Amino acid sequence: MPDKALKALSAVANNLGAIRTKIFEAEQAYQMESGTDRPVTLVAVSKRQPDDRIEAALSAGQRVFGENRVQEASGRWAHRRDLYADLKLHLIGPLQTNKVSDAVTLFDIIEVVDRPKLAKALSVEMICQNRQLECYIQVNTGEEEQKSGIAPDDADDFIVYCRDEAKLKITGLMCIPPVDEEVSMHFALLKTIAERNNIFTLSMGMSDDFEEAVSFGANSVRIGSAIFGKREG
Ligand SMILES: *Cc1c(COP(=O)(O)O)cnc(C)c1O
Repeated sequence: MPDKALKALSAVANNLGAIRTKIFEAEQAYQMESGTDRPVTLVAVSKRQPDDRIEAALSAGQRVFGENRVQEASGRWAHRRDLYADLKLHLIGPLQTNKVSDAVTLFDIIEVVDRPKLAKALSVEMICQNRQLECYIQVNTGEEEQKSGIAPDDADDFIVYCRDEAKLKITGLMCIPPVDEEVSMHFALLKTIAERNNIFTLSMGMSDDFEEAVSFGANSVRIGSAIFGKREG
């Protein structure tokens, strides 16, 4: 094995081990506090990471990955599907309707459903391909203009639309809090919306705040740089 690959292997394996331990501790704390056991899924965000680091994560047993661009993800993962039957790919970046067909082919979970047009397009495509994927609704908890996601005030109606009209299998909510704000308010808001709509999965928390997210009930965390190191480009 070349030196570079060996280095990546040990760095990524160490990081993954450390993060799994921290997640485990945060799960334990949550259970003590709330009395409910809420196992957390670690989504390793592999966007813009070199191949040796991806291989290292796979060697370390990681099977759940997040990507934010359909085409880039396809290049990285399509050929690995046959090698790892238990691979689970999450789409976590904005989805244009003209990429819906490729997205439904490649991914297992779409975390970014945020408008009726997209919900409808996904619905039609899933029927076409006979692939019923789990979907999460992205909520723009900070109501930031440049960010995707449904506004918090519109979330309840949109969830009803996705379930009853588009017939999507809505199993989660996702948010990306604004960069310079206290995250706890956003995590709490997402949890409130999930609870009143009977939605089980909360995808929130990234490299810098995943432990806090778990303390607010996150059971899916999206972690990139803390596992793989700095991204390319
Ligand atoms: C890139 C990205 C992440 C991972 O960010 P890190 O800070 O590297 O952990 C998580 N969620 C989304 C939506 C992303 O685009």
